Amino acid sequence: MAGNRTLTIIKPDAVANGKTGAIIQKITDAGFRIVAMKYTRLTTEQAGKFYAVHRERPFYGDLVKFMTSGTVVPAILEKENAVEEFRKLIGATNPANAAEGTIRKLFAESVERNAIHGSDSDENALIEGNFFFSELERF
Ligand code: GDP
Repeated sequence: MAGNRTLTIIKPDAVANGKTGAIIQKITDAGFRIVAMKYTRLTTEQAGKFYAVHRERPFYGDLVKFMTSGTVVPAILEKENAVEEFRKLIGATNPANAAEGTIRKLFAESVERNAIHGSDSDENALIEGNFFFSELERF
């Protein structure tokens, strides 16, 4: 059965470009409820752990550097079929391939600096939610 929560991160490019508010508006307009949200900055160790599945990829080092370059805004979001619905809302990884009206089409700069993260499975949504938020925060 599809879960009802996903984990997003508004990435350093979008936060630095002043797009946090506009992106949150898109998310809530699409019917997601914000369960938890904060401003934070990742250490190299934390970003490396979060993206550990990509550690063999050629872009891993750059990705970790990018994700630690500034403030990020992680959030837990709730909606029916949240993971799939949110992936639709953010669009393809590479903004050049993202559909019109998607968050990445509107706000991403490149395949790396692509404005926003969305969990790719219910299992990862849970793991990633637990990574950023304590039990009390994700009530
Ligand atoms: P996502 O699930 O759509 O975020 O995509 P992936 O899990 O495949 O990749 C994780 C993140 O790594 C992406 O959101 C990008 O920020 C970055 N990334 C993915 N592919 C590339 C690439 O080919 N080059 C670079 N520089 N970064 C990439």
